[in-house]
Amino acid sequence: MSNHHPSADRLSCFAAGSLPMNQALCISVHAEHCPQCRRELQRLELLGAELFSAVAVQRRSDNLKTALMAKLDTLGLEADTGSPATEPKPAAPANVPRSLRKLLPDGLQGVHWKRLSPAIYAAKLCTDVNGAKVELLKIKAGGQVASHNHSGEEITVVLAGSFSDADGVYRRGDIIFRDREHKHHRPIASQDADCICLTSVAAPIQFTGFFARLLNPLIRRSHYSS
Ligand SMILES: [Zn+2]
Repeated sequence: MSNHHPSADRLSCFAAGSLPMNQALCISVHAEHCPQCRRELQRLELLGAELFSAVAVQRRSDNLKTALMAKLDTLGLEADTGSPATEPKPAAPANVPRSLRKLLPDGLQGVHWKRLSPAIYAAKLCTDVNGAKVELLKIKAGGQVASHNHSGEEITVVLAGSFSDADGVYRRGDIIFRDREHKHHRPIASQDADCICLTSVAAPIQFTGFFARLLNPLIRRSHYSS
């Protein structure tokens, strides 16, 4: 059961199909893990259907998942990996959320991680048309991300393992929103397992530690990757 959820406003926008792909993807992955948000989304969809029928407007036949997949197909042409999105393979790995299977056809085992430090690895997934970068981030068990500030919104969904920061502990399925008001953000993975997260970063993060600041010119190429 997730303990960290999107706001009611954000869920409403998701149900209305008005969120950018990078945000919709993160919320879709969270909802796969969260019965509470799935129930709320069903309620919002029913409410939307009633509103539409009240004004005699035919409801869109495509559901949210189909719309999101269509957006991913479009973005696949611009994916950082240079390879177009493909249909999921028949034996899609069970450890990958359905919303990510087009971007991770070979599962987490097939991810080409880029080493950023002995404890941190990243893998680009795609870039939204708004410039937000969607990546996977792996923090080795007990490892920590260097202290950093955000110049834009960062959304994180825990896919495996867990991590903590000054505000709490986050486990599989939890979704966390951070922005420029969160100073010196310093996530630390739990000691018992590697932590793998889906992240969407609207603008490059700014490392604040002395040595980590040396990374800042490098991470402009990728919000996490050097
Ligand atoms: Zn939730």
